Amino acid sequence: FPVENIRNFSIVAHVDHGKSTLADRLLELTGTIDKTKNNKQVLDKLQVERERGITVKAQTASLFHNCEGKQYLLNLIDTPGHVDFSYEVSRSLSACQGVLLVVDANEGIQAQTVANFFLAFEAQLSVIPVINKIDLKNADPEMFDIPSDECIKISAKLGTNVESVLQAVIERIPPPKVHRKNPLRALVFDSTFDQYRGVIANVALFDGVVSKGDKIVSAHTQKTYEVNEVGVLNPNEQPTHKLYAGQVGYLIAGMKNVTEAQIGDTLYLHKQPVEPLPGFKSAKPMVFAGMYPVDQSEYNNLKSAIEKLTLNDSSVTVHRDSSLALGAGWRLGFLGLLHMEVFNQRLELEYNASVILTTPTVPYKAVLSSSKLIKARRAVQKNMIFIDQNRVMLKYLFPLNEIVVDFYDSLKSLSSGYASFDYEDAGYQTAELVKMDILLNGNNVEELVTVVHKDKAHSIGKAICERLKDSLPRQLFEIAIQAAIGSKIIARETVKAYRKNVLAKCLLKRQAEGKKKLRKIGNVEVPKDAFIKVLKTQ
Ligand code: GDP
Ligand code: MG
Repeated sequence: FPVENIRNFSIVAHVDHGKSTLADRLLELTGTIDKTKNNKQVLDKLQVERERGITVKAQTASLFHNCEGKQYLLNLIDTPGHVDFSYEVSRSLSACQGVLLVVDANEGIQAQTVANFFLAFEAQLSVIPVINKIDLKNADPEMFDIPSDECIKISAKLGTNVESVLQAVIERIPPPKVHRKNPLRALVFDSTFDQYRGVIANVALFDGVVSKGDKIVSAHTQKTYEVNEVGVLNPNEQPTHKLYAGQVGYLIAGMKNVTEAQIGDTLYLHKQPVEPLPGFKSAKPMVFAGMYPVDQSEYNNLKSAIEKLTLNDSSVTVHRDSSLALGAGWRLGFLGLLHMEVFNQRLELEYNASVILTTPTVPYKAVLSSSKLIKARRAVQKNMIFIDQNRVMLKYLFPLNEIVVDFYDSLKSLSSGYASFDYEDAGYQTAELVKMDILLNGNNVEELVTVVHKDKAHSIGKAICERLKDSLPRQLFEIAIQAAIGSKIIARETVKAYRKNVLAKCLLKRQAEGKKKLRKIGNVEVPKDAFIKVLKTQ
């Protein structure tokens, strides 16, 4: 394929504005998939995506399209719209020269529309604005301040005017600037782990050619591999003889261990070393949680499941951790609460793992008693800088435990998604902290032990008890839920016992739910998602 007939582009937009639906129509129009009534978000291949109706992973598809007698190769990447997955978007853009920026004609420009525009702008990509959902009654495609010859008005659902999107991709996005005669330089921008074939790396070729049988080297590990298979995603894997510079595809080279295949790595030919590509900035975790196997005997299985899944989701950070009650586990960092839920659900759906997620923890240094004399510290404003007329940067000193759970999500919702947040470590500070226990019928729930500021102990303790009350099923006896500091009870809730006549019914229901793993604390059965519910709104 001549380079000038290749176009690499992503579809970006705010969540639900119709990216995946537009991708369906483009796949149909180019004959990549058959046109049926049932094509709904076909690139949302993960079970978690189908269950939730949202895209969480960027997906690549190669389309062939004839235009004015020439054959074009269009590599499309559908991306997620939710802010928690913007790391997927920024990585995808590294393989592209342009984007389709889709805007829902009913909703107009939203936070992620702006964020994605800036991502594309900073990466110096061509931006094609696409106004979608013009079929809706209240759609107002004229409200946008974009010259009308620049933006394309479509209905992705009905397929209206979608051909002009293809036309614009060919006319307005430049072909990749690459050199096929140079030695191979391939960027690994995503990878997945296949049980039988090992690591499948998604690659964008910046220079050269790669064929089956080539000896290649990973710039990251310096290990050498033989290429077993190369191909394009159509949207399923379709082997080809070679991949050329300018193409986006996949490569399998006998990498059996997930640590061998780093996202952002550069692959080159054994005999022709090259300067590695810049790779990616690492993602910054915003929410931390402890993760433990329900049963310690599953530790190794869970470890390998987490490793494989983090290969496919490199924005999750993993550190070993341990808890008295739960044994060995990990402290994981996520980009938001939705990301945490999706990761947890993918472990269950794709790896059949069952895990316990605990209250997020941060490391403290404990100094005994006498320093309690020192005043508590809350957020302290450091400075305020106006970046331009519309943006201001505020710097605060925060106790880390105030920001690890839902600070980021609250900030996003308070500011309708426009505020962004970054942090760096300011070292340890002295504070008046107490250890708070949660008891179920007098038994300590180790998963919910927290270190909290003395002034907040009462309100946090009360909130945890209330949450736990809502998420604990009634049992044969009354359950007392208490928050305690040392021997002092600071909050209490009660879950009443079942009345006898509803007993039979609930036993049946319990059997149906029997598959769900339960934790036993004393005589009280705690469903595993109770912990997640407690920690989410704490
Ligand atoms: P994404 O989150 O941007 O990928 O959005 P989806 O493609 O998953 O679409 C979100 C919802 O909008 C789905 O229910 C689609 O059926 C609907 N949708 C997408 N395009 C159109 C359109 O042109 N018109 C109408 N009425 N609905 C659309
Ligand atoms: Mg989508």
